[in-house]
Amino acid sequence: MNIAFIAHDRKKDEMVNFVIAYEMAFEGHTLYSTGTTGTRIMEQTKLSIHRFMSGPLGGDQQIGAMVAQNEMDLILFFRDPLMAQPHEPDIIALLRLCDVQGIPVATNVATGEILVRALQRGDFGWRELVHKYKPGE
Ligand code: PGA
Repeated sequence: MNIAFIAHDRKKDEMVNFVIAYEMAFEGHTLYSTGTTGTRIMEQTKLSIHRFMSGPLGGDQQIGAMVAQNEMDLILFFRDPLMAQPHEPDIIALLRLCDVQGIPVATNVATGEILVRALQRGDFGWRELVHKYKPGE
């Protein structure tokens, strides 16, 4: 599975702790992140993550490009709902594309837990079919 991590600044500690707690669940998957979020996770875990640009510099849009092509299977996006973000339009665009493609996306840790447990159970098998039978390939 292709999995992306994004955490706003005041949610980064929560994201790092979350990924540490579920590190084994993420092993064996292909991991992506926005710049700083990925650096923070890699400092604290043994996971290897492909880091895109920092969110405000376009990282959300880069992840969105994968979503648009239906290549991202799960997004853990811990948002800060109490702080204005300079790249709010990019965030809205990313969430919109997730809805266009029907991509599971968690915007808080509680939903993140549920989705990661589903990942552990193998509930994301349908995404393998999406990759296998991608239209136009
Ligand atoms: P960052 O980007 O991981 O580079 O901080 C996340 C964001 O703020 O969108």
